[in-house]
This record gives sequence, structure tokens and C-alpha cells, in this order.
Amino acid sequence: MAEVETRVISNEDYNFLRKRMLRLEESYKQSNDPTVRRAVRDKTLFDICERFPDFLYEYGDVFECCAMSSLKEITDLYDLVMGRFSIKQLPKIESEKEVKRLLKLKDKALKSFIKGYNEAVETHNLTYYSQRIDDKLVFLTVQDGEFVGAATDVSRSQRNGECLCHVCRRFKRGPEITFVTNTAKTTKGEYSSLGQTICSDYESCNREVEDREPLVKFLRYKLDKERER
Ligand SMILES: [Zn+2]
Repeated sequence: MAEVETRVISNEDYNFLRKRMLRLEESYKQSNDPTVRRAVRDKTLFDICERFPDFLYEYGDVFECCAMSSLKEITDLYDLVMGRFSIKQLPKIESEKEVKRLLKLKDKALKSFIKGYNEAVETHNLTYYSQRIDDKLVFLTVQDGEFVGAATDVSRSQRNGECLCHVCRRFKRGPEITFVTNTAKTTKGEYSSLGQTICSDYESCNREVEDREPLVKFLRYKLDKERER
């Protein structure tokens, strides 16, 4: 059989694909009706194609051939598809200069952040990295080949109820979620800030995140505000 090239996609795209593919197995376990299972199969294919238009061309036939009549058939399809995708790692920080102005951290904190980031990108599949440094939660991600990040302020007041993580869209409570604000000083000398609740633990958040855009938007708040004239 010809060697098939694996396609390298972002962590969030991979999560999106993995979770859609897992729906096939869920539908098998939830329903005995093959018509229902095949409807889930077709809906799954449609959902994936919305993000990956080439997917229909490449996998339309194998989806069609999967009658959803045995678990093995479904796990084979899962393995076939997921085996052809791998995750693009976030780039390493080569020199302090690359992120110094972006994060505005003191030397010691900056060094600690860079060390943590570089270790994390080597060992984990990530959309972003975050590290708690004193009263800040510092974030870094990449968009269009450029680093995007911010040292956000952590709110001291503990939230009691469940809060939705702005990044992975799961509900978390207590110490699992942190309320952070990104504050900008405008040209008029006024302060304006944007707050969000985000998972305290970047590792667990990164396993579920399906979209980078909301995080990038939040992290760019200060940058964009300070550019406004
Ligand atoms: Zn999260």
C-alpha cells in the first residue's frame, strides 16, 4: 500500500477532529438502530467538512463504506482518519527579545516563563501556554507566525459557582478556573480592561480547546486598545 502523508494541523483543529470522530463510537453505544447511527455518521462527516473542506474528497468514500454495524468497523475508521493527522508544535522562543516587549515581565519572571514555555512546547500538544507568576497569569500563543501574549491580572476574589472557560468552553469551578483581566492604558491616560474566566491549568484546557480565536482576541485587547488613536 502506498505511504500516505500525514497532515500536520493545529492542536485545536486536532481536538475538533478527534471529538467529532469519537461521536461515531458514542452513537454506536447509544443506539441499536443502524439508521440512527448512519445519520450520526453523515452529520459527523458534514461537521468535519465545514472546517476541513478537503475531508469529503479524501474520506467521503470510507465514511460511506462504514455501515456502523460493528464497533470494530468504527474504531478502524477512527484509527485510519486520526492516523493521518498529527499536531503542529508551537515554536520555541529562541531569544528573550521575541517576547520581552509583549509580556512586559521583569527579568527573573521572564526567564522563568520562557523556560516553562520552551519545556511545555516540547512535551505537550498546545494551542497556548500559560504560567502563574505572582498575581499574574501569563499567556502565550501564536497567530500567523507571530507570538501573541499578555501578562493578565488575576482577580483575588474566588468565584463560587461554575464558570465557563473562555478558551475550551467547559464549565469549571473553584481553583480550576481563574478570572483574569487584560488592562490597557489608553493614550488619554485612562485605563480600560477586559475580563475573562479561563482554566487555571493550561494542560487540561489544551486537551479540549477547539478554537484559538477567542483567546487571541482576549490577549490582543491591550495591544489593540493602545494602538487606538
Ligand atoms: Zn479551558
